[in-house]
Amino acid sequence: MNEFYHTMNYKKLLVEIYNEVQDLNLKGKTADYIPELSNIDINKFGLSLVTVSGEIFSVGDACEKFSIQSISKVLTLAMVYPKLDEKLWQRVGVEPSGSSFNSLAQLEWENGIPRNPLINAGALVVTDIIRSLYENPVAEILSFLNKITQSASITYNEKMAESEINHSSRNKALAHFMKSFANIESNVFKLIETYCYQCAIEMTCEELAKAFLLFANHGKNIYTNEQLLTLSQAKRINAITQTCGFYDEAGEFAYKVGLPGKSGVGGGIAAVLPGKFSVVVWSPGLNDKGNSSKGMKALELLTTKLGYSIF
Ligand code: GLU
Repeated sequence: MNEFYHTMNYKKLLVEIYNEVQDLNLKGKTADYIPELSNIDINKFGLSLVTVSGEIFSVGDACEKFSIQSISKVLTLAMVYPKLDEKLWQRVGVEPSGSSFNSLAQLEWENGIPRNPLINAGALVVTDIIRSLYENPVAEILSFLNKITQSASITYNEKMAESEINHSSRNKALAHFMKSFANIESNVFKLIETYCYQCAIEMTCEELAKAFLLFANHGKNIYTNEQLLTLSQAKRINAITQTCGFYDEAGEFAYKVGLPGKSGVGGGIAAVLPGKFSVVVWSPGLNDKGNSSKGMKALELLTTKLGYSIF
């Protein structure tokens, strides 16, 4: 790692990145297929980095809540993986999809077993498992998030959830299709409802970076000292986010950034450097692959300036 940044406060690094990215004036569009998401101010931009020893560094709009959307998929995966362990992989694979996040085509070829837990179909299977494990699945997800971040205020945005529920034909199609292969147990409408509430959870960059410390810190929560994932499970979740976290831009993210991470159509990206830190960037302007334009650039600058990634 570049000695300068090794010994320096990360704050200076984040400010430098923030200013450089702002100067580039990168555009992008808010996601409009969920109407409520298209109302978000496109100029928001925040960055937070939390080290495994708990130090927090933030710039910009890092303390504003935003819709975590697909980033929630990694967190629900972290809830079910310890319960099912390797049996989980009978219902969902671990291969990158190379197609868009809500693609239907692959499922037909692969008999209703989604390629991985981070595309919509795979995340629906994970949410289906949460529904069969818990009586109040949404409350359980919120309590897990509040626990791992030592927060009390993490909740969902009702309007956002309803907006997505009312525009979820494609996700319903995915769920019905998997149900025809007996890979979904829940009632499809109930499943979509739970999934949309999960996606409508709002967190700040700081809160999300604290949550992702679980993956940076080999499965151990730094606040409670609990080993919530085994070393192997944490390592494997990082392998999945590295290869599948950015849909059909996963290769680009590995190439330019080189960290396990996950994006969401709310404009957030969470990534980790195992053993060192987790980092979250939020900016709602998305590129044509549905990933935050400023977020991608900011993380590329981070690993370039550090001279360090997982590779
Ligand atoms: N709730 C979104 C959906 O299922 C999440 C997509 C994303 O963030 O990539 O369409």
